[in-house]
Amino acid sequence: MKLTLSEAAAMLAHANKVVITAHENPDGDAVGSSLGLMHILHGMGKEAVVLLDDDIPAIFKVLPGYDIIGKPEEGQASVEADLLVILDTAPDRIGRVPEVTKAGTVLNIDHHRTNNGAAEYTYVDDTRAATAEIVYDLAKELGAVFTREPAMCIYTGLATDSGFFRFSNTTPHTMRAAAEMLECGVTANEISEALEEKPYQVVKDTAEAVNMAERFADGRAIGIFLDEATTARMEATEGFIGAIRVVEGVDVAVVLKAKEEKLCRVSMRSKGVDVSAIALSFGGGGHIRAAGCTLSMPFAEAKKTICAAIEQAIRDLPQAAALKAGMSGEGH
Ligand code: 5GP
Ligand code: MN
Repeated sequence: MKLTLSEAAAMLAHANKVVITAHENPDGDAVGSSLGLMHILHGMGKEAVVLLDDDIPAIFKVLPGYDIIGKPEEGQASVEADLLVILDTAPDRIGRVPEVTKAGTVLNIDHHRTNNGAAEYTYVDDTRAATAEIVYDLAKELGAVFTREPAMCIYTGLATDSGFFRFSNTTPHTMRAAAEMLECGVTANEISEALEEKPYQVVKDTAEAVNMAERFADGRAIGIFLDEATTARMEATEGFIGAIRVVEGVDVAVVLKAKEEKLCRVSMRSKGVDVSAIALSFGGGGHIRAAGCTLSMPFAEAKKTICAAIEQAIRDLPQAAALKAGMSGEGH
């Protein structure tokens, strides 16, 4: 069932024991919105814990509460709660969290236009740059007081999903929310320096990956295609797509990583093409300008398949629509 912002806020207000989760392979918005909501609920005198079924990248240590994020363990006792809040994804990408959580009610809060509405209660606002921006809206609705702890977390979600306030999803509301977080004691450079720091080897891997980039669709698309062996020896690949999307004339950038013999992960970014539609057609999802999917096929076939889909989408795109392709649709 779809809820309004005030209905979603009322559900939070009525719950006393809350489990918060977000998507696997957590990014700054998943971790930031989860911990941000946890701190806000703590400030309201409620019990709240964050459970994420994945390892949390060490760069997020800068966020207050990083150390108390829980991970569901095989065969662990159920966590009882009035409410399970799923953030930044539909309920299909939260791993084992539902198995270890006994919650009366499930509330899904998301900013992805492709959210399938499968949760018991759903609040989606795809005009918000980040789920953290919706957590901010909810906190305002609840009259919550922002201290530095939630503010650091919410700011991180806002900043990371908006490309540090550069992407098309950045609105005056995003910046006002961020400004308020700064007023609550957020130190912007502390967050950006922590998040941007990379091991030496990752910078070298990025150089190698960029060297492998291939243009296609008459130069309107570019891709890095990593076979299984290359994917396995590269530690962190998240930065690759950002390094190639800037190439002159490129609308769509893609990074394909072969994870197993018949399992490839695809990330896409665009300036005009609706890559969420491409991702959705392969069972994935995302935003107009940032989306992803998993292809259950061997590397060579996956590469051919995704390149053909991108070429087709570029051919189908009227020039005018490409030029005026508006806001909304980037971030994670
Ligand atoms: P990324 O390329 O950074 O992994 O993801 C880009 C955007 O697409 C993010 O908003 C992410 O949540 C979404 N996305 C990526 N992969 C998938 C997927 O397999 N399924 C769905 N539903 N969304 C995805
Ligand atoms: Mn997000």
